[in-house]
Amino acid sequence: MHCPFCGAIDTKVIDSRLVAEGDHVRRRRECITCEERFTTYETAELVMPRIIKQDGVREPFDEDKLKKGLMKALEKRPVSIEKVDSAINSIKASLRATGEREIQSRDVGEEVMKQLRQLDEVAFVRFASVYRSFKDLNEFREEIDRLSQQEPSENENQ
Ligand SMILES: [Zn+2]
Repeated sequence: MHCPFCGAIDTKVIDSRLVAEGDHVRRRRECITCEERFTTYETAELVMPRIIKQDGVREPFDEDKLKKGLMKALEKRPVSIEKVDSAINSIKASLRATGEREIQSRDVGEEVMKQLRQLDEVAFVRFASVYRSFKDLNEFREEIDRLSQQEPSENENQ
């Protein structure tokens, strides 16, 4: 890690700690040459499974797309961006936990619904109604009932 101030090659770590639920490491570094201090963040690069769309086309997992979908469902809802990020992390963690190299897009959708349900009921209903093409209102209610019978677990974050 080069010093961003003087470009020296040698810097030493003076402090490191885990941040954001343990998936980032924050390090304070000091340049041996100019003694300036700066902070770096390290994140493990974990491979996400590829997504199999309904037409069979495979595409890479797209976190931006996931985030946009969540934000759209959460539009004008009282949910902080930290909670959205944490929901995204949970979704990614459970997709990785399947151990699969490829995963059906509807399984991603199920996971998103599970998280949204814990975040905000209105957003959940919005997402669910777009995500599933319900034939009628009863079918939609049944789906909501089915999902509300699954107890949300609070401590699923890893
Ligand atoms: Zn320096």
